[in-house]
Parts: sequence; structure tokens; C-alpha cells
Amino acid sequence: MIDDSTRVAVIGAGHGGTAAVALLRQHGFAGSVTLFGAERHLPYHRPPLSKTSPESGSGSPDPLRPAGFYPDQRIDLRLDSPVLALDPVAARLRLGDGSEIPYDVAVLATGARARRLPVPGADLPGVHTLRTLDDACLLRGGLRPGRRLVVVGGGYIGLEVAAMARRIGVAVTVLEAATRVLGRSAGPDLAAWLTERHRRQGTDVVLGAAVERFVPGPDGRVAGVGLADGGEVPCDLVLVGIGAQPCDELARAAGLRCDDGVIVDERGRTSAPGVYAIGDMTRRPLPPYRGLHRLESIPSAGEQAKQAVTDLLGLPAPRPEVPWFWSDQFDLKLKIAGLPALAEKSVLRGGPTDEHRFAAFHLDGAGRVVAAETVNAGGEFMVAKKWIAEGTVVDPDGLADTARPLRTLALEGATCPR
Ligand code: FAD
Repeated sequence: MIDDSTRVAVIGAGHGGTAAVALLRQHGFAGSVTLFGAERHLPYHRPPLSKTSPESGSGSPDPLRPAGFYPDQRIDLRLDSPVLALDPVAARLRLGDGSEIPYDVAVLATGARARRLPVPGADLPGVHTLRTLDDACLLRGGLRPGRRLVVVGGGYIGLEVAAMARRIGVAVTVLEAATRVLGRSAGPDLAAWLTERHRRQGTDVVLGAAVERFVPGPDGRVAGVGLADGGEVPCDLVLVGIGAQPCDELARAAGLRCDDGVIVDERGRTSAPGVYAIGDMTRRPLPPYRGLHRLESIPSAGEQAKQAVTDLLGLPAPRPEVPWFWSDQFDLKLKIAGLPALAEKSVLRGGPTDEHRFAAFHLDGAGRVVAAETVNAGGEFMVAKKWIAEGTVVDPDGLADTARPLRTLALEGATCPR
């Protein structure tokens, strides 16, 4: 049990870490709180990095909290201070200057890093990845009307950057190795619908395109992307958006249980007493979905911050969450609730022909809604989230019929608590 003499060290000043320190103070914790950040910027919002164009954005970071928040809340924010080692037995952290910091409770929130493509030319100037504000500044510096951008990978970040670049007149090619975009994170109907929207905006979306190398031009900068079929796509710059890897090396070196992320329980507890982990770096149970899941989303990092902080303060667990995620592309507001990959049946509400609106509901074998993917359909998203939380069985024929209001579709007496 912690008290006001307890020293909490939070490692990683991103979305999860900043939420955790704020929650500690909101719940009245009066002990010492230190937030270590590897970056030199005040903790900032990541979503605008892939969505805000060089022209519409001011180029300056969008801070998560104003600078005064940290001193006002007696949070010792240490920027540009990567933690190099964690010793869970001695309860000490080691910083880059060699200093050792004792703690009583540590919360790891070191996030993830952009995955790199291990092909020749991956280090050429003009080949970018996108995770941090500094990455975004470099990428944006190269996005100008008339230039040619190749996006490697049709995931959310790649598609968001493609949309942002098209808005400012950049010629965009998306090269996706699989047979559809969003293979890891969305159902095939949404993927096909979204691909069509990007193509209509002038983006060349190439599926089944395996990148083999980046080709330098005479000035040494990337000038082309070589494909396995022998083709080459000329370009002025490249964004590699092929997913992220957990920053779990501190935890692995400290002997914490890890498997593509730090393994935590439903309260963010790691295998080491007194050490929690939250956010993109973790893999965790997420009932009612089977197995362990590594989610990369701001709502997920925020929920885990709540789970960990309430646990370390001895407070009741927060209500079970419904995982969700959003993405903005052109004028399309995507919102996804639940985990679509685990569904057995999918129903489109309204069919795929509407160009501005989309809703797909995913049901398990018992007819319960386990996930929903929506675009510009906030009402459907909200209802689906509630249904997922309550394990509601719905009438699938009614779901497909937009003339039938959603509220009439829950099958009476069929709601199963999860
Ligand atoms: P982060 O926010 O990445 O924070 C981790 C921090 O830890 C980083 O600042 C890192 O520098 C620091 N760190 C790492 N190692 C150390 C160390 N050893 N010592 C000290 N500090 C360290 N999610 C959504 O839900 N919606 C969106 O629209 C969306 N858009 C996104 C757009 C982009 C371009 C990116 C990159 C991500 C986006 N995400 C979005 C995902 C979302 O940003 C992440 O899920 C979220 O930031 C995870 O929070 P986190 O605290 O785990 O990691």
C-alpha cells in the first residue's frame, strides 16, 4: 500500500505516462511523482503528426498539458532524460548521466517505435518513418505540391499521411504487400471501401507490391522504390509505415516477462513487484476477447493508466473497457470499437455504396456484437460500443436495414453479461 512518502517514477512522457501522472494527482496522491521523457519536447499529442498538413498546422507541438501543469501539480518532469536501465530488485533507475534514481513504484510507459524495412537503401536520405514530432517535422519538410511521395504500407499511419499529402497536391503512391490495406486492424469491407476513397482522391494504391530496395538518385537521396516484380516507382520521398515495435528493452533487460511487449495483467502489473507497464509497449488480457493483445491507441493507453493508478492507490478497478480507436482521412472520421478480427459474421449497415458513410457490425457465433467499424457514423459507433460492453445479441437482418432504428434491434432477453 502506498502513502504520501511513496516515490512514483513514470518512465515515458507520452500519452500513457502523462495520463498516469495526471491521474495520480487527480486521485489525491501527495507523494513524489517524477516523469522521465526521452524527447526534448513537452509531452504532445501524436495523432496530428500524421493528419495535420504543413500548411494547416502551425508546425509546433500540440501539448498534452500546458507547461505550467507540471510544476502546479508538483510533477517533476524531466525531458531529454531517457532512462537507460531499471533494476527492480534494488528499485533504482539509471539515467544517461550515470545518476541512479531510487523509486518505490515504477510505471513503464515507453511506447513503441516505427518498424523499419530491412532492405537495401533503407537509410537513404528521404526515406522516413513517423513516430515522433521530430520525425513529423522532417517528413513535412519534404511534402510540397508536385512532389512524389511513396508510402510503404497501407496501415492507418500510411493512409493518414497519404490523405494529408493529397490535400496539398503531392502525388502519392501507396505500396501494400498484402492483398488489401489495413490487414492487421480492419475487416475486408472497410479496407475495400477506404481503398476506393483514396483512389478517388488520386492516390495510386498498389496491392501485392513487395518492396525490395530503395534506389538512390544522383544526389544520393532516394529517387525510386524497387519492387520484387522488377518494377520501380520513382519518388522524391518515402514514408515507411509498416507498423510499430514495442519499446520493451528496459523491461527485457530487467528480467520482466515479455513477449513482443511487456506482459501485464488487467491492472497493468508486470511480473516484477512494484513495476507497472501501460500503453503501446504492453501485451495484456482484454476480456471477453481471448488471448493477450498489444493495442496501439490513445484510448487504450488512457484506460491502462487508470487501471494501474487505481491499483497502486488501492482503489477499485475501473469499469471494463471496450477498446476503441479513431482515424481521420480526408473528411472521413473512422471510429472502430472492439476487435474485428475475432468475429464470425459481419453485417454492413446500409451497404457499401454510400461514399461518405460506412458501418460494419461484427458478431460472434452467439450473435453478440463484438466489434463495429464506422465512418462518419457516430450514432452507430456509440450504440455499438454500448452493445459490445453489454454483450448484446442483435437481429442481424435488422442491422442491415437502415430503415430500422438501431435501438429496436437488441433481441429482448438475449443480452448476456460478459
Ligand atoms: P507514446 O505516446 O509513444 O509515449 C512513449 C514515450 O516514451 C515517448 O515519448 C518516448 O520517447 C518515451 N520513451 C521511450 N523510451 C524511453 C526511456 N527509456 N526513457 C524515457 N522515455 C522513453 N492513436 C489513436 O487512438 N488515434 C489516432 O488517431 C492515432 N494517431 C497516431 C498518429 C501517429 C503518427 C502515431 C505515431 C500514433 C498514433 N496513434 C493514434 C497511436 C497513439 O499515439 C499511441 O497508441 C499512444 O501514443 C500510446 O501511448 P504510449 O504512452 O504507450 O506511447
